Amino acid sequence: MRAAGGGKNGGGATLLSIGIDDTDSAEGMCTTYLGFMLAAELLEKGEAGFASYPRLVRLNPNVPWRTRGNGAVGLRVLTDDPGAVKERAIGLVRRCSDVKNGANPAVAFCEGEVPAELAAFGRAALWRLLPRARALEAAERHGLETFRMGNGRGLVGAVSAIGYEFGDSTLEILAYRERGRFGTARAVSPESVRLMHERTRPRTFNSYDEEKRRALVSPRGPDPVLYGIRGEDPAVLLAASRSVDAGEPLAGYMMFQSNQGTGDHLAHELGERDAVPHASGTVTGTVSGPPRVGPGGHAYFEVAAAGAPAGSRPPVRCAAYKESGLAGCAAAMRGGDAVRAGGGIRRAAAGHPRVLNAEFLEILDLARPTREANPACGRCAKRMKSKGAGQGFKCIKCGSRAGSKVAEAVPRRLRRGLYLPPASAQRHLARPLQRQGVTNAVGFDGSVAWIGRFEVDSGE
Ligand code: ATP
Repeated sequence: MRAAGGGKNGGGATLLSIGIDDTDSAEGMCTTYLGFMLAAELLEKGEAGFASYPRLVRLNPNVPWRTRGNGAVGLRVLTDDPGAVKERAIGLVRRCSDVKNGANPAVAFCEGEVPAELAAFGRAALWRLLPRARALEAAERHGLETFRMGNGRGLVGAVSAIGYEFGDSTLEILAYRERGRFGTARAVSPESVRLMHERTRPRTFNSYDEEKRRALVSPRGPDPVLYGIRGEDPAVLLAASRSVDAGEPLAGYMMFQSNQGTGDHLAHELGERDAVPHASGTVTGTVSGPPRVGPGGHAYFEVAAAGAPAGSRPPVRCAAYKESGLAGCAAAMRGGDAVRAGGGIRRAAAGHPRVLNAEFLEILDLARPTREANPACGRCAKRMKSKGAGQGFKCIKCGSRAGSKVAEAVPRRLRRGLYLPPASAQRHLARPLQRQGVTNAVGFDGSVAWIGRFEVDSGE
């Protein structure tokens, strides 16, 4: 397809959901690119139409074996020949996955309406660590066809990509490189990204870090992505992408509906039983005592969960690492502050205990600690001097006297509110400041050219 395809592009009688994951390694490939190749081929061969935008579902960012951003890809197509579509998907995964460098790909297919249990599975995969066996059980129970290579771990993501139901959602337009350029330096113009960001925000987000004056749209690795722009609206994204000076010809582009920027991985309040290593979520409660600032400028504090009777549950240890930009906020906390901390639970290792690695901090209420101080003179407003033990206090200016010390509020430099890392340090799923309180509904109505392929890559 030279020109971009838009809308639903025809279709067929059977709704077929396809989930794909773990096709890539740090050495190369990208599951979104495989999804792009599959979508383009299905449209070009007239084998299917689309029932929704291709789906980029980010899963628990704290799973230990993710390659980068733990993204799984889903397609929902309408077809008269599900067999041909499945064959094409499996063929591509077989040909293009980077198995020799450690990818463990899987594809799953679900015909007809997606069962509610798979939606629940997708929700759980966003914050928990799920065993492969559970994905296989769910797939078998609901009659999903699957194809797996390597150790088959990709099935967790493949089933999740089928099941996950978006609430609030965003879009990302991903532009792909020509195959001959994979692994070479990218030359996307940062100035064109800055201008695009200025013109399109807040309908786009996290494209440009204004503080560090750095474009954030391009990955660094050898994968096929040239750049990705995130936002709320397909037409704005398409125009935004066209305005970027890519520095090289594109092989194509595709728009994905995604849970990026929703913060949905942290929607779960972690109870005692599920605050286990690699889980993501929040703890809400009271800071137990003064925070500690350790070597490297990282800050550590403990939160006693709200609602738990005192002493019934050990407080949750939290860490705000320097790189997150949250260490300053954490270091300024005081015992008694009411806070909500969101992040992933890092397992204990030699030299450090289990901690919640903070991805955001919210100060809900500030404790008002007091300290004893010499009284101030009512007339001169100057602090009085002690006359010696048990002798009271005297103003050296006017001679006024007072009997005892007074309780004085300790000034706080912390304010109530939400504290987030800078855009460059935010995870894909993190809800940026400009998206706080936003719920975006993405409609798939055929009005925007959501896919374009300009170079045919068979993956051979
Ligand atoms: P990229 O973002 O570049 O596509 P990636 O970071 O998605 O790469 P993968 O290579 O897909 O990394 O590896 C993630 C692996 O973790 C997949 O096998 C996926 O099935 C699995 N996985 C995803 N979520 C969970 C989860 N909640 N519990 C257990 N395994 C998971």
